[in-house]
Amino acid sequence: MVTAELKQRYEDYILPTYARFDAGFARGEGATLYDEAGRAYIDFASGIGVNSVGHAHPQWVKAVSEQAAALAHVSNLYYTGPGAALAERLCKLSGLEKVFFANSGAEANEGVIKCVRKYSWDKFGKERYTILTLYDSFHGRTISTLSATGQDVFHRHFHPFTEGFRHIPAGNVSALERELVKGDVCAVMIELIQGEGGVLPLGANYVEEIAALCAENDILLCVDEVQTGIGRTGTWFAFQQYGICPDIVSFAKGIGGGLPMGGFLTGPRASGVLTPGTHATTFGGTPLCAAAALATLDILEPVLGDVNRKGRRIRAALDKAAPKALKGVRGTGLMLGLSVEGPPRGYAEQALEKGLVVLTAGKDALRLMPPLTISDAELKQGLNILIEVLNTQ
Ligand SMILES: *Cc1c(COP(=O)(O)O)cnc(C)c1O
Repeated sequence: MVTAELKQRYEDYILPTYARFDAGFARGEGATLYDEAGRAYIDFASGIGVNSVGHAHPQWVKAVSEQAAALAHVSNLYYTGPGAALAERLCKLSGLEKVFFANSGAEANEGVIKCVRKYSWDKFGKERYTILTLYDSFHGRTISTLSATGQDVFHRHFHPFTEGFRHIPAGNVSALERELVKGDVCAVMIELIQGEGGVLPLGANYVEEIAALCAENDILLCVDEVQTGIGRTGTWFAFQQYGICPDIVSFAKGIGGGLPMGGFLTGPRASGVLTPGTHATTFGGTPLCAAAALATLDILEPVLGDVNRKGRRIRAALDKAAPKALKGVRGTGLMLGLSVEGPPRGYAEQALEKGLVVLTAGKDALRLMPPLTISDAELKQGLNILIEVLNTQ
């Protein structure tokens, strides 16, 4: 629940851009949130895949507090240790070469868009600038990442949008080939599991075909791992399960364990593109967020192997209970989409009333993205509520 006073303050002073649920949270511990009245809720959302190490993890709190007490920020005009350590760590665990740090998923993808366009400008001249993305994708809310997003609902109100994006249907190789023969494409940007679009995984063969066509045509393959990355699907990055080597991988949500951070990693073709003065951001890779991210990776490393087991446990419990309103389960690891009978929002509201936080995705799905550190006891408690909700509608 949420107090009338808190709701009123929002109404009075905050722009009404979110359709908020009726809950106001005051603190959290592990995968459990507490509202202002002290009532507990199991967290199957992690923000939106952000609190990958749960709430108030002691190791994360310690790292952030110590870094805050030492040095929170200096500008990117100087050197600092945590950002360098994090960059090395991310390159090693992804197999990519270099990183650029930003503050959010949209900002990371903005950098990706600039990088691929400059790659093509440097090599092929001005006219080869088009970026292909997929229908049902989501790449962010800035004016250019909205253009990149392949959903018509996002292409209203804010004209003119950034030009140079075309959208193609997922799973259709000939549609991709038809776009490539036009000769103006510099990059393809994909999510391997479309998160906001409804937790829609791309097929492995399709992804391999995209990678092969990109390599043949000197087109950069960009994988948006803002939601799938940092352990969410059971490997550090989802692309590592597809046997491809993307040229650029963006990440954000889960990396900071709750602090705002994002960025993108580059492989051999893209690492030399951005040179001094061509891209920058004030807060990117600041010591405080980098320390949070390093702690997040430390905490996740030993539980990474457990992510798929937990995902399978959720699937098995749902299979066994076969609740009335559940039509199917998709996704990997701890990024699961449950297609349900009727609009998903109603189920999410009911779950909240019963003490479980879940997300929705696309038109038909409930989305489960619990902290990767969730305990088996919390998982079980959450599943009981979820099954009850899916049975009572
Ligand atoms: C959430 C999301 C974004 C946007 O991230 P913000 O941090 O909200 O800007 C971009 N791409 C994908 C795949 C996302 O899930």
